[in-house]
Amino acid sequence: MEGLMQRRELLISSIIVHAARHHGEAEVISRREDGSIVRTDYRTIERRARRLVGVLRALGVKYGDRVATLAMNSDRHLELYYAISGMGAVCNTINPRLSTDDIAYIAAHAEDGLIFVDPCFVPLVEAVAPKLAGLLRAVVVLAEPAETPACDLPPGVAPHCYETLLAAAPEEPEWPTFDENTAAAMCYTSGTTGRPKGVLYSHRSAVLHAMMVNFADSIGLRAIDRIAAVVPMFHVNAWGLPYVAPMAGATLIMPGRHLDPANLLGLLNAERATVAASVPTIWLGLIAHLRETGESFRTLTRIVSGGAAFPRALIGEYARLGVSVSHAWGMTESSPIVTFNAPKPATAQLDAEALLDQQAKQGRVVYGVDVRAENEQGAEVPWDGRTPGNLLFRGHWVASSYYRQPETQVGVQGWFPTGDVGVIDEQGFVELTDRTKDLIKSGGEWISSIALENIAIGHPEVAEAAAIATPDEKWGERPLLIVVPRSGCAPEPDDVRKFFEGRTPSWSIPDRVIVTEELPHGATGKVLKSKLRALYANPPKP
Ligand code: ADP
Repeated sequence: MEGLMQRRELLISSIIVHAARHHGEAEVISRREDGSIVRTDYRTIERRARRLVGVLRALGVKYGDRVATLAMNSDRHLELYYAISGMGAVCNTINPRLSTDDIAYIAAHAEDGLIFVDPCFVPLVEAVAPKLAGLLRAVVVLAEPAETPACDLPPGVAPHCYETLLAAAPEEPEWPTFDENTAAAMCYTSGTTGRPKGVLYSHRSAVLHAMMVNFADSIGLRAIDRIAAVVPMFHVNAWGLPYVAPMAGATLIMPGRHLDPANLLGLLNAERATVAASVPTIWLGLIAHLRETGESFRTLTRIVSGGAAFPRALIGEYARLGVSVSHAWGMTESSPIVTFNAPKPATAQLDAEALLDQQAKQGRVVYGVDVRAENEQGAEVPWDGRTPGNLLFRGHWVASSYYRQPETQVGVQGWFPTGDVGVIDEQGFVELTDRTKDLIKSGGEWISSIALENIAIGHPEVAEAAAIATPDEKWGERPLLIVVPRSGCAPEPDDVRKFFEGRTPSWSIPDRVIVTEELPHGATGKVLKSKLRALYANPPKP
């Protein structure tokens, strides 16, 4: 209709154009493989990304093609995000912690013609390249010429140095415009069940998700924030932070592969991070380091955690260090944020203990998506904080099916089954109790493994915990708890069991507690319960 608002496509390139024009000096800080710090800014990133479009075109990349990255978080990876998506191709970030078999599967399934790789992952590409005959054309090492190792690649796959290519490339004069429903990026789920599955994000979904992440009751970055994107750029696009930070004009700090607690704390303090985002494993390691060394945070005030449950007891411990923890929930299939834990008038008034209970929940739905909890018959369960149901979500940044798997198309109502089980309380806060496949069902009752783990971590001698089901003749299944001691501690299994008394109904107290040095973690930092079950619940017959 005449006189209507302008229609402009929601394109990822518009984010970096905005940042370059209005926050040109805002810093992008990266730690290189050798530990050195490199500083650049959004103006430079935008210009180099346009030059990188020239490189991509020269290497034969066309609109709609898939281009892979095997890289940690850095300014160069950020340039790739904008250049690949910005020219209309698809940035397929691959998790380098996966097996070479899975990496080869993903690159073949996505038909990645090029791989951009950090020097430390060159051996991975060398192992994978022979399996991509006829598909892979070139490998570009993200480094200066002097840091680029010799690559042992099959005939027909050309090795290149990123900075050499960039130096020679013409600058694309401006960003192309196309439909906002064009594919922009692709992540594969980590394949804890079966082969990895591709999730294809559009320009529109990525831009809308990034705007939501900047809501005040979500991560809500401001231009004066300095966010440490610790969550890897291959894990659901680092939760959108490479789009979110430039959109807000916030400083972006990236640790590269230096994710150990001492280096991470050093970076957060030296670079004056105000906000940091990552999975609980990182925050568990960091708090153990602080306990041991007595060091502290200088500027950090907020942590955003997702990907697995953040233990309730640690929320209190971080608060005592002046850092508030915000829980977020979602998955690769939802870009990822669906719920974020920010107070409502009714929950802001709770006393300290009830507030901790509330903050340990996964949060409430943000505008743009919706969630429901269903019983086995598909009916919505009441929002009473008690009745568990299978969780489903839908919205602007939720997948409609997996890439090239039309049989996974969700129904007309668009509800995507998450495979998570949880309860929703009267205020709409979602609390996860389990993954469907990790459920513990004892005597017809569900026992929440996350609830058991939360209690265990409240024990003063326990650093990390995992609860799994073990087969039981009488009850069907019974919970088994596996704990890792805090440094210098040796908790007694019986003492840990006693700690549950009065904290959970007696029938849900784990029958057995096993103390071990380490829990197995998967490629995205989650505890591998399948491995624990194989070790402890169904040990192979001798
Ligand atoms: P994967 O590739 O392993 O599926 P995702 O990051 O997509 O990696 O994992 C999504 C799953 O992680 C969710 O379905 C849920 O089980 C778990 N998860 C995500 N956020 C949380 C959270 N805040 N608390 C508990 N579990 C979470």
